[in-house]
Amino acid sequence: MKPAQLLLAHQRLVERERALREEISQLETRLEADPEVVSLDEALAAKVAVQQAVAARLRESDHDREAHRTKLRSREKELMSGRIRNPTELIQLSEEVEHMKARFAEEEDAELHLMEENEAADVEVREATAQLYEARRHSASAEPGLRKNLDSMREELTSVEAERDQVWSQVPPKAQQAYTRLRVNPKVAEVSNNQCRACHVTVTSSGMQLLRKGDEIVHCENCGRILVLS
Ligand SMILES: [Zn+2]
Repeated sequence: MKPAQLLLAHQRLVERERALREEISQLETRLEADPEVVSLDEALAAKVAVQQAVAARLRESDHDREAHRTKLRSREKELMSGRIRNPTELIQLSEEVEHMKARFAEEEDAELHLMEENEAADVEVREATAQLYEARRHSASAEPGLRKNLDSMREELTSVEAERDQVWSQVPPKAQQAYTRLRVNPKVAEVSNNQCRACHVTVTSSGMQLLRKGDEIVHCENCGRILVLS
């Protein structure tokens, strides 16, 4: 192979190596924690928190209602006892009892509402639990295949790295320097229809002649990349 062709081969191996490393790291992350499972786990935790808050409000409401019921009964008893003779006092107490009854009815409505909320929260927790369970099962069943993929990618990476070094060692030092000095990416561009494929600028006829010989490194006059005939 000519120097520029070696450099192109090297570049392709470097690109493959980069892609492999990226895939390997994504797979490793996935095997550490499945994002699907993590997000369903968080969703379940949030729903359990809501369920607990509603249950706490329901307990509090039960407790308050019980206290109000006791108070209402004792007032009603007092009203019916006939002990209160003063008409003004009697009217006052009667009004108080009516007021308490009205409030009690409101509290019962609110309690019904809370019970509905509580049931809905229970359903949500049950559903989220089932979803998480399913995702965990799915994730676990996919794992052996993913591990196998990971192993084969690691193997490929090892051979790509070796090949990359082997190709690089065949590149003449001058071409190596020309390649290393370049700051563009990718550094090597193919030429087709007399054009640099990276920047689409036409290569001069003298440039094309040099490229056909292939012994020297030819740079694109526009983008500076190392050119190679495809
Ligand atoms: Zn160019």
